[in-house]
Amino acid sequence: MLSLLKTVWGLLFRLFPCPAPTGLREIGHPGPHSPVLVTCNFDLTIKRLKKELEGLDLWLLVAQSGGVNVWCAAGGDEFNTHSVVSAIKTSGIGRKVIHRTIILPPLSGPGVGIAAVRKATKWNARWGPVRAEDIRRYIESGLRRDEGMKRVTYTLAERLDTALGSLFPFYFMGGLLFAMFSRPLLSGYLLIGAVAFLLFFLAVDWIPGKRGIVKAGYINLALLGILAITELYHPSGSPYRSSIIIAVVMIFVYGSELGGLAPHLPSDLDPFLARAGVGAVGNVAFAGTVRTELLNGYRDLTYDHDVCEGCRNCFEICPQGVWRMGEDKRAILADKDKCTACRACLTQCQSGAIQAKKQTGTS
Ligand code: SF4
Ligand code: SF4
Repeated sequence: MLSLLKTVWGLLFRLFPCPAPTGLREIGHPGPHSPVLVTCNFDLTIKRLKKELEGLDLWLLVAQSGGVNVWCAAGGDEFNTHSVVSAIKTSGIGRKVIHRTIILPPLSGPGVGIAAVRKATKWNARWGPVRAEDIRRYIESGLRRDEGMKRVTYTLAERLDTALGSLFPFYFMGGLLFAMFSRPLLSGYLLIGAVAFLLFFLAVDWIPGKRGIVKAGYINLALLGILAITELYHPSGSPYRSSIIIAVVMIFVYGSELGGLAPHLPSDLDPFLARAGVGAVGNVAFAGTVRTELLNGYRDLTYDHDVCEGCRNCFEICPQGVWRMGEDKRAILADKDKCTACRACLTQCQSGAIQAKKQTGTS
């Protein structure tokens, strides 16, 4: 029963922690040569991984992430180098296997420094595939990643998963407010909020704009146009007024939050909160972090070709495919427009070639 409740909580309230015990798990019948896969201690992630890994024999090393999923915990520095080093040193994995290689989830790139883990543990750390469903193919192909395993996507199923897991709390809170202060509008809110919720996420990749808030703006302009037309035809007031206003507000909320939750879009909410003086909520920092400063234009991602040591870390970790490797074996900042300021390349670059430089004239 508790396990079912945790699954529902993880599905619908993913923004909040849902911790599972850290430590070593056996998947199948692992032996001394079996791969060692590292993950976070978010309950739902572990359950989903176990399902994907059915039939394989490997060790699953669950590291401390504050009970939050890999992407959010690494972005908030809850899942970091220390989490992984500590899991290796305290779990007893060194006595279970004769090799010294761990496979890290690439979405932990903003928090877990692969070179720092190697240095602190003498274990060889390498990146696995971004999506759990590719792990089987990755292991069966001798730990080789193809391009598709390195980059984030935002497929229909992933969009629906994001919508449910990350935005349901906003929908739920809206429902509570209507129930407390405006009960006659509650059923309309529940229906329209849910329809707006689903339609927005189904259509999000086809709506113009590179940011969630811009995409929401286009839909809201269309909705307000419809409202204006219906007002013209109903001099005593459009019967759709409250429904459309609810939909506009919901889509604005979804759109502004979307950027912070979908790994392929920059956050809109974080810079807004930073400008509004909200430094942090719980463990999630909005102001004064490298990421928010990059998003706000207070810093710029810079690259010094002469300093690059050609380790390929930036190329391997960037979820957007911003980096390429040149013929001289050094990195090329090839597609900076695609950067979503996740800061993974900054964490991984040991040479100092990649920096987040303060812009002159900004505080
Ligand atoms: S280039 Fe941008 S998106 Fe790519 S890893 Fe660096 S900060 Fe993240
Ligand atoms: S820029 Fe940094 S991370 Fe990228 S290849 Fe050069 S040294 Fe490695």
